[in-house]
Amino acid sequence: MNYELVIGLEIHIQAKTKSKMFCRCDAKYFSAAPNTHVCPVCLGLPGALPVPNKKAIEQCIRLSLALGCEINKFSKFDRKNYFYPDLPKAYQISQFDLPFGYKGKVRIESQDGEKEIAITRVHMEEDTGKSIHSGNKTLLDFNKSGVPLLEVVTEPDFREVKDVVFFAKRLKQIVTYLGVSDADMEKGQMRFELNMSLRKIGETQLPKYKVEVKNIGSISVLEKVIAYETERQQGILEKGETPVQETRGLRDLSGITHSQRAKEEANDYRYFPEPDIPPIVFSEEEVTLLRATLGELPQEKKNRYQKDYGFDSALAEKIIATKQKAEWFEQSIVGVQEPQVIANLAKWYVGDFMALLKASKTRLSQAKVTPEMLRELVQRLHEGKITAPSAKQILAEMLVSGKSPDALITELGLEAVSDEGAILDVVKQVLAANPKVLEDMKKNPNAYKFLIGQAMKQLGGKANPQQVDALLVKELGVTEGAESIQ
Ligand SMILES: [Zn+2]
Repeated sequence: MNYELVIGLEIHIQAKTKSKMFCRCDAKYFSAAPNTHVCPVCLGLPGALPVPNKKAIEQCIRLSLALGCEINKFSKFDRKNYFYPDLPKAYQISQFDLPFGYKGKVRIESQDGEKEIAITRVHMEEDTGKSIHSGNKTLLDFNKSGVPLLEVVTEPDFREVKDVVFFAKRLKQIVTYLGVSDADMEKGQMRFELNMSLRKIGETQLPKYKVEVKNIGSISVLEKVIAYETERQQGILEKGETPVQETRGLRDLSGITHSQRAKEEANDYRYFPEPDIPPIVFSEEEVTLLRATLGELPQEKKNRYQKDYGFDSALAEKIIATKQKAEWFEQSIVGVQEPQVIANLAKWYVGDFMALLKASKTRLSQAKVTPEMLRELVQRLHEGKITAPSAKQILAEMLVSGKSPDALITELGLEAVSDEGAILDVVKQVLAANPKVLEDMKKNPNAYKFLIGQAMKQLGGKANPQQVDALLVKELGVTEGAESIQ
């Protein structure tokens, strides 16, 4: 392709609050009967006055801080005027020139190393109601009307689909780590708007046109839309034409877009300050207090794991996937000093443990294995008290019974055989039963290796294979042909 992507994103995220943005209606509307979470304010009845939700505004400022934004300590709400059946006031309360957050950045890991995506602004607005089209009728449900939304707008800094995906995932992690939203895309709590154009590789100016695709409900659909639009726009450009500047919509989840309307400019909305809500003022101290509540964010955690524990990027990324996952891991390494044990804990956690949870469709929060129990198991393995195959067996049993590793080691008789004498007896038996091995070793010095398996079998898998190997070598060493096996 001779063209490169020029993509900016707008992301709407439903803030996690008890009540709606400007009234006291319950904000948890999902799956509620239509029009049961409504009042004169969110129905836009004449004379009803909006009262801003302080918690929602604080969430917006926390998110802005987490995205490295400057904060407008003097801010206000504005009316964005347009008509739509599910917008009963014929305007949406949003923010225009003084968003709570502006000029931020998010670090992403790109193919060519680290990259920064500039955040234009983070503002607060209210959601609209929902139009349900059935047959030739349209029904309106206002449960969603007035639910607080956080809107994050990026600069057109994306050049690769992969970067868009990384950013979208990281943003979802950030909002859930902060607790400002559950960002459950299946419930429409995080929605994407794509601003996209193409330009010839080597060009540095922004293209003369921009196509907007609204209401993209998942990261996988976002990827499909980008793929579809790339091909469509490229086809037009290759004919020497310019794609129309417009808003395009989706009919289904295939990613195929269709023309909806010419794109609106900001002045089409006749923004003006919301007269019913006084300006919102925050002091420096209040912002500092909010900053102190952010906690360790996903990227900071990842950096720390890589620096302190030497984890590679992929391993660290798996552990930080969710805050709960990271906290579980951190609990499991409490008091552990040896780097090897920490590394093993991480491997067992994202490896065998996660696989067993997945296979048994168990959530981490419901698992009968606690972080302390996994630590005990990995420590026993480290001490040589059990072997790796035994540890796997014990872990599976722990998940079913919730019993401790020590209890299960005894109960299942899985304590490793470390008594050299006992292992040596078995090694001698195996050698006696396989006299041909010495002959074979003349051709292939490693021919004895199959005896390790034989000995392990006799020992019930409870010995350390390296120890068995060493003893076999030693035994063979006192016999003829010994040098050849070293
Ligand atoms: Zn209401």
